[in-house]
Amino acid sequence: MREFGYRRAADVSGAVALLAADPDARFLGGGTNLVDLMKTGVERPARLIDVRDLPLDRVEPTGDGGLRIGATVTNSELAAHPEVRRRYPALAQAVLAGASGQLRNMATVGGNLLQRTRCGYFTDVSKPCNKRVPGSGCPAIEGVHHNHAILGASGHCVAVHPSDMGVALAAFDAVVSYETADGPGALPLADFYLPVGDTPHRETALPPGALITGVTLPPAPVAARSRYRKVRERASYAFAIGSVAAALDIADGVVREVRLAYGAVASRPWRARAAERALTGAPADADAFAAAADAELAAARPLPDNTYKVTLMRNLTVAVLTELAEEAAR
Ligand SMILES: Cc1cc2nc3c(=O)[nH]c(=O)nc-3n(C[C@H](O)[C@H](O)[C@H](O)COP(=O)(O)OP(=O)(O)OC[C@H]3O[C@@H](n4cnc5c(N)ncnc54)[C@H](O)[C@@H]3O)c2cc1C
Ligand code: SF4
Repeated sequence: MREFGYRRAADVSGAVALLAADPDARFLGGGTNLVDLMKTGVERPARLIDVRDLPLDRVEPTGDGGLRIGATVTNSELAAHPEVRRRYPALAQAVLAGASGQLRNMATVGGNLLQRTRCGYFTDVSKPCNKRVPGSGCPAIEGVHHNHAILGASGHCVAVHPSDMGVALAAFDAVVSYETADGPGALPLADFYLPVGDTPHRETALPPGALITGVTLPPAPVAARSRYRKVRERASYAFAIGSVAAALDIADGVVREVRLAYGAVASRPWRARAAERALTGAPADADAFAAAADAELAAARPLPDNTYKVTLMRNLTVAVLTELAEEAAR
């Protein structure tokens, strides 16, 4: 591991200034991803700027009925927050489905959004990987790719984004706030992650040196009836091979509003807009749920060893929406 310096930032402008003065530095949240990558040599920062003392550790209601979540709120605090559980239950469920209790106690909201892919070629510095070394190739396409992307990938990278939290945030139209040396900014989650294209090493639209300060959830009454379902290779402490965040509002047996996002199928949390369009105004039954999933998954381009994900995501969509519809009927 490369020797590195360490500073604790006391305020937001100080943190941003420290990074602006030192392009070889990185912000440190809980360190649960960054430090692992430093140990394997994937990341080699000269300095870490610890942001955990910044006053960004609150979950607060916004005046309009939404929630503002600070960037240093831990995953455990987020999942336990009564207003998150009441207004956006799928978000609490998604966070609890991730990692382990010990990791969730350390991991922060900002770090979770910026965690890197778990593609084994990316984390193994002895292998080529376009995301780690642009232009070196993507061995996953011909190699091990059973857990890789089926939507939105390119011939340059087929990795998936590992965040569970991000999937629920995508379903609820979250907006990410940040601060740079030039001032504050904000990005809807839909624009936060860049398409893969031929630049898989460029993952987000954040300006260089940006410190994530928080995430805002707009008011979404539909989110009160929402659910997150994750499929993984073992019952706990494993990344998703497919997941769904869904929210459903039904009136007289017809879908009035639906939110649907998929995890572990693309380089970013995948908002299933084609499915949402197909379902809005349709009967709230299993046939319509399956047709909506088919509308979304028509764009899937699986690789030889991950075709199972198309069926998995179809079945997950139907199962989660059916549960929500049954709950609404009670
Ligand atoms: C064994 C294991 C299992 C896991 N399982 C899951 C899982 O099932 N689901 C899941 O979603 N996650 C899982 N995780 C990932 C875990 O949730 C992430 O490691 C964690 O959320 C990252 O948060 P952190 O605060 O520790 O980030 P760090 O490791 O501190 O940072 C990650 C990145 O974000 C940057 N960063 C951190 N904070 C900021 C900020 N405020 N502004 C700008 N940049 C910032 C850092 O510079 C770094 O590039 C797992 C991790 C491990 C080790
Ligand atoms: S899928 Fe992406 S991260 Fe994995 S080897 Fe290919 S380029 Fe690298």
